[in-house]
Amino acid sequence: MNLKLDISLAESYKSASQGIRVMTEKWTAENMYCPRCGEVSLQRFTNNMPVADFYCSNCKNEYELKSKKGKLGDKIVDGAYDAMVERITSDTNPDFMFLTYEKERLEITNFLVIPKYFFIPQMIEKRNPLSEKARRAGWVGCNILLNNIPQQGRIYIVKNKAISPKKEVVSKLNLSKQLEIGKLSARGWLMDVLHCVNSLPGKEFTIQEIYKFENILSQKHPENKNIRAKIRQQLQILRDKGFIAFTGRGLYQKIAE
Ligand SMILES: [Zn+2]
Repeated sequence: MNLKLDISLAESYKSASQGIRVMTEKWTAENMYCPRCGEVSLQRFTNNMPVADFYCSNCKNEYELKSKKGKLGDKIVDGAYDAMVERITSDTNPDFMFLTYEKERLEITNFLVIPKYFFIPQMIEKRNPLSEKARRAGWVGCNILLNNIPQQGRIYIVKNKAISPKKEVVSKLNLSKQLEIGKLSARGWLMDVLHCVNSLPGKEFTIQEIYKFENILSQKHPENKNIRAKIRQQLQILRDKGFIAFTGRGLYQKIAE
Protein backbone atom coordinates (compact mmCIF):
# COMPACT_ATOMS: atom_id res chain seq x y z
CA MET A 1 0.00 0.00 0.00
CA ASN A 2 1.45 3.30 -1.15
CA LEU A 3 0.16 6.29 0.82
CA LYS A 4 0.96 8.92 -1.83
CA LEU A 5 -1.80 10.48 -3.91
CA ASP A 6 -1.14 10.86 -7.63
CA ILE A 7 -1.07 14.61 -8.30
CA SER A 8 -0.74 14.30 -12.07
CA LEU A 9 -4.43 13.45 -12.18
CA ALA A 10 -5.56 16.59 -10.42
CA GLU A 11 -3.81 19.06 -12.68
CA SER A 12 -6.43 18.93 -15.41
CA TYR A 13 -9.19 19.88 -12.97
CA LYS A 14 -10.00 23.52 -12.33
CA SER A 15 -11.73 22.93 -9.05
CA ALA A 16 -9.54 21.77 -6.18
CA SER A 17 -12.28 19.64 -4.67
CA GLN A 18 -12.80 17.83 -7.95
CA GLY A 19 -9.08 17.21 -8.23
CA ILE A 20 -9.00 15.73 -4.74
CA ARG A 21 -12.01 13.60 -5.52
CA VAL A 22 -10.28 12.13 -8.57
CA MET A 23 -7.02 11.50 -6.69
CA THR A 24 -8.63 9.84 -3.68
CA GLU A 25 -10.89 7.67 -5.85
CA LYS A 26 -7.93 6.50 -7.89
CA TRP A 27 -5.95 5.79 -4.75
CA THR A 28 -8.80 3.71 -3.33
CA ALA A 29 -9.26 1.79 -6.57
CA GLU A 30 -5.54 0.99 -6.71
CA ASN A 31 -4.78 0.34 -3.06
CA MET A 32 -7.88 -0.77 -1.27
CA TYR A 33 -9.11 -4.33 -0.87
CA CYS A 34 -12.59 -5.26 0.27
CA PRO A 35 -12.45 -4.95 4.08
CA ARG A 36 -15.42 -7.31 4.41
CA CYS A 37 -14.28 -10.33 2.44
CA GLY A 38 -10.66 -9.55 1.59
CA GLU A 39 -11.21 -9.45 -2.19
CA VAL A 40 -8.02 -7.99 -3.66
CA SER A 41 -9.53 -4.79 -5.09
CA LEU A 42 -12.71 -2.73 -5.20
CA GLN A 43 -14.59 -1.76 -8.35
CA ARG A 44 -15.78 1.71 -9.18
CA PHE A 45 -19.36 2.37 -10.19
CA THR A 46 -19.09 3.58 -13.75
CA ASN A 47 -21.88 6.15 -13.90
CA ASN A 48 -22.34 8.77 -11.29
CA MET A 49 -24.17 6.55 -8.83
CA PRO A 50 -25.95 8.68 -6.25
CA VAL A 51 -25.62 6.15 -3.43
CA ALA A 52 -22.13 4.65 -3.52
CA ASP A 53 -18.70 4.96 -5.12
CA PHE A 54 -17.26 1.44 -4.95
CA TYR A 55 -18.44 -2.12 -4.72
CA CYS A 56 -16.89 -5.52 -4.21
CA SER A 57 -17.32 -7.94 -7.10
CA ASN A 58 -17.11 -10.86 -4.69
CA CYS A 59 -19.38 -10.04 -1.72
CA LYS A 60 -21.31 -7.23 -3.52
CA ASN A 61 -20.93 -4.87 -0.60
CA GLU A 62 -21.02 -1.15 -1.49
CA TYR A 63 -18.85 1.67 -0.20
CA GLU A 64 -19.06 5.41 -0.15
CA LEU A 65 -15.83 7.40 0.01
CA LYS A 66 -15.36 10.74 1.74
CA SER A 67 -12.15 12.63 2.22
CA LYS A 68 -10.87 15.52 4.25
CA LYS A 69 -7.59 17.39 4.35
CA GLY A 70 -5.76 17.74 7.62
CA LYS A 71 -6.68 16.23 10.96
CA LEU A 72 -9.26 13.52 11.44
CA GLY A 73 -11.15 15.56 14.08
CA ASP A 74 -14.42 14.44 15.57
CA LYS A 75 -16.81 15.42 12.80
CA ILE A 76 -17.10 14.52 9.14
CA VAL A 77 -18.95 16.99 6.94
CA ASP A 78 -21.42 15.08 4.81
CA GLY A 79 -24.25 15.83 2.36
CA ALA A 80 -27.92 16.66 2.86
CA TYR A 81 -29.28 15.95 6.35
CA ASP A 82 -32.67 14.51 5.33
CA ALA A 83 -31.17 12.25 2.69
CA MET A 84 -28.60 10.95 5.19
CA VAL A 85 -31.19 10.17 7.87
CA GLU A 86 -33.40 8.49 5.30
CA ARG A 87 -30.48 6.44 4.04
CA ILE A 88 -29.38 5.11 7.39
CA THR A 89 -32.90 3.89 8.07
CA SER A 90 -32.86 1.84 4.88
CA ASP A 91 -31.00 -1.38 4.15
CA THR A 92 -29.41 -0.02 1.00
CA ASN A 93 -27.00 2.26 2.82
CA PRO A 94 -23.37 1.62 1.81
CA ASP A 95 -20.50 1.22 4.25
CA PHE A 96 -18.67 4.45 4.80
CA MET A 97 -15.00 4.91 3.93
CA PHE A 98 -13.23 7.94 5.26
CA LEU A 99 -9.84 9.22 4.26
CA THR A 100 -7.72 12.09 5.55
CA TYR A 101 -4.62 13.42 3.81
CA GLU A 102 -1.81 15.92 4.25
CA LYS A 103 -2.19 18.76 1.82
CA GLU A 104 1.52 19.57 1.40
CA ARG A 105 2.79 16.04 0.88
CA LEU A 106 -0.43 14.72 -0.67
CA GLU A 107 -0.12 11.69 1.51
CA ILE A 108 -2.85 9.61 3.16
CA THR A 109 -2.78 9.88 6.94
CA ASN A 110 -5.89 7.92 7.93
CA PHE A 111 -8.24 5.59 6.14
CA LEU A 112 -11.09 3.97 8.00
CA VAL A 113 -14.25 2.05 7.33
CA ILE A 114 -17.47 2.44 9.28
CA PRO A 115 -19.88 -0.41 8.54
CA LYS A 116 -23.41 0.75 7.74
CA TYR A 117 -24.98 -0.97 10.76
CA PHE A 118 -23.19 1.37 13.14
CA PHE A 119 -25.16 4.36 11.96
CA ILE A 120 -28.04 5.65 14.04
CA PRO A 121 -29.71 9.08 13.67
CA GLN A 122 -28.03 10.35 16.88
CA MET A 123 -24.70 10.17 15.09
CA ILE A 124 -25.89 12.62 12.46
CA GLU A 125 -25.79 16.29 13.38
CA LYS A 126 -27.95 18.80 11.56
CA ARG A 127 -26.02 21.84 10.30
CA ASN A 128 -27.52 25.33 10.09
CA PRO A 129 -29.41 25.99 6.84
CA LEU A 130 -27.43 27.89 4.19
CA SER A 131 -28.07 31.64 4.28
CA GLU A 132 -30.42 33.57 2.00
CA LYS A 133 -27.46 34.73 -0.05
CA ALA A 134 -26.22 31.23 -0.81
CA ARG A 135 -26.90 29.64 -4.16
CA ARG A 136 -28.68 26.79 -2.40
CA ALA A 137 -30.37 28.95 0.26
CA GLY A 138 -32.10 26.95 2.97
CA TRP A 139 -30.25 23.73 2.15
CA VAL A 140 -29.43 21.74 5.29
CA GLY A 141 -26.28 19.66 5.44
CA CYS A 142 -25.08 17.29 8.13
CA ASN A 143 -22.03 16.18 10.08
CA ILE A 144 -21.23 12.62 11.05
CA LEU A 145 -20.19 12.63 14.72
CA LEU A 146 -17.24 10.29 14.65
CA ASN A 147 -16.86 10.11 18.42
CA ASN A 148 -20.44 8.88 18.81
CA ILE A 149 -19.60 5.76 16.84
CA PRO A 150 -18.39 2.96 19.14
CA GLN A 151 -14.72 2.11 18.59
CA GLN A 152 -15.76 -1.33 17.26
CA GLY A 153 -17.31 0.50 14.32
CA ARG A 154 -14.27 2.59 13.41
CA ILE A 155 -12.03 0.15 11.63
CA TYR A 156 -8.71 1.62 10.58
CA ILE A 157 -6.89 0.48 7.46
CA VAL A 158 -4.39 3.34 7.92
CA LYS A 159 -3.98 5.11 11.26
CA ASN A 160 -1.53 8.02 11.53
CA LYS A 161 0.21 6.59 8.44
CA ALA A 162 0.62 3.16 10.01
CA ILE A 163 -0.93 0.47 7.82
CA SER A 164 -2.93 -2.25 9.59
CA PRO A 165 -2.43 -5.84 8.43
CA LYS A 166 -5.21 -6.83 6.02
CA LYS A 167 -6.01 -9.97 8.01
CA GLU A 168 -6.62 -7.89 11.12
CA VAL A 169 -8.92 -5.47 9.27
CA VAL A 170 -11.04 -8.25 7.76
CA SER A 171 -11.33 -10.06 11.08
CA LYS A 172 -12.31 -6.85 12.92
CA LEU A 173 -14.95 -6.17 10.33
CA ASN A 174 -16.33 -9.65 10.61
CA LEU A 175 -16.45 -9.41 14.37
CA SER A 176 -18.29 -6.09 14.13
CA LYS A 177 -20.87 -7.79 11.94
CA GLN A 178 -22.13 -9.48 15.09
CA LEU A 179 -23.50 -6.08 16.07
CA GLU A 180 -25.63 -5.79 12.95
CA ILE A 181 -29.22 -5.11 13.91
CA GLY A 182 -31.76 -4.13 11.28
CA LYS A 183 -34.30 -2.38 13.46
CA LEU A 184 -33.13 1.13 14.13
CA SER A 185 -34.56 1.56 17.65
CA ALA A 186 -32.96 -1.69 18.81
CA ARG A 187 -29.71 -0.69 17.14
CA GLY A 188 -29.74 2.61 19.02
CA TRP A 189 -29.96 0.88 22.39
CA LEU A 190 -27.21 -1.56 21.62
CA MET A 191 -24.87 1.19 20.37
CA ASP A 192 -25.60 3.32 23.43
CA VAL A 193 -24.89 0.56 25.94
CA LEU A 194 -21.79 -0.51 24.01
CA HIS A 195 -20.62 3.09 24.15
CA CYS A 196 -21.06 3.06 27.96
CA VAL A 197 -19.09 -0.19 28.23
CA ASN A 198 -16.31 1.25 26.06
CA SER A 199 -16.04 4.37 28.14
CA LEU A 200 -15.29 2.43 31.34
CA PRO A 201 -11.51 2.36 31.82
CA GLY A 202 -10.84 -1.19 33.00
CA LYS A 203 -11.19 -4.55 31.37
CA GLU A 204 -13.61 -5.62 34.08
CA PHE A 205 -16.62 -3.71 35.33
CA THR A 206 -19.62 -4.10 37.60
CA ILE A 207 -23.29 -3.62 36.89
CA GLN A 208 -23.23 -0.67 39.29
CA GLU A 209 -20.70 1.09 37.08
CA ILE A 210 -22.99 0.73 34.09
CA TYR A 211 -26.00 1.91 36.11
CA LYS A 212 -24.18 5.24 36.52
CA PHE A 213 -25.17 5.94 32.92
CA GLU A 214 -28.85 5.59 33.83
CA ASN A 215 -29.56 9.34 33.65
CA ILE A 216 -27.80 9.85 30.34
CA LEU A 217 -29.59 6.88 28.83
CA SER A 218 -32.97 7.97 30.11
CA GLN A 219 -32.46 11.38 28.51
CA LYS A 220 -31.70 9.65 25.22
CA HIS A 221 -34.65 7.28 25.55
CA PRO A 222 -37.35 9.19 27.46
CA GLU A 223 -40.00 6.66 26.36
CA ASN A 224 -38.35 3.92 28.40
CA LYS A 225 -39.42 3.76 32.04
CA ASN A 226 -37.20 0.90 33.14
CA ILE A 227 -33.70 1.82 32.08
CA ARG A 228 -31.89 -0.64 34.35
CA ALA A 229 -33.79 -3.63 32.94
CA LYS A 230 -33.03 -2.38 29.45
CA ILE A 231 -29.33 -2.06 30.30
CA ARG A 232 -29.24 -5.65 31.59
CA GLN A 233 -30.99 -6.85 28.44
CA GLN A 234 -28.46 -5.08 26.23
CA LEU A 235 -25.57 -6.52 28.26
CA GLN A 236 -27.02 -9.97 27.60
CA ILE A 237 -27.10 -9.24 23.88
CA LEU A 238 -23.48 -8.07 24.01
CA ARG A 239 -22.59 -11.27 25.85
CA ASP A 240 -24.43 -13.46 23.32
CA LYS A 241 -22.58 -11.68 20.52
CA GLY A 242 -19.21 -12.29 22.14
CA PHE A 243 -18.27 -8.73 23.15
CA ILE A 244 -18.42 -9.20 26.91
CA ALA A 245 -18.52 -12.11 29.35
CA PHE A 246 -20.32 -12.48 32.67
CA THR A 247 -17.81 -13.67 35.21
CA GLY A 248 -20.31 -14.03 38.08
CA ARG A 249 -21.33 -11.92 41.09
CA GLY A 250 -22.35 -8.98 38.96
CA LEU A 251 -18.93 -8.77 37.36
CA TYR A 252 -18.43 -8.36 33.61
CA GLN A 253 -15.39 -8.62 31.39
CA LYS A 254 -14.73 -6.94 28.04
CA ILE A 255 -13.65 -9.40 25.38
CA ALA A 256 -13.53 -7.68 22.01
CA GLU A 257 -12.30 -4.11 21.88
ZN1 LIG B 1 -16.06 -8.17 -0.56
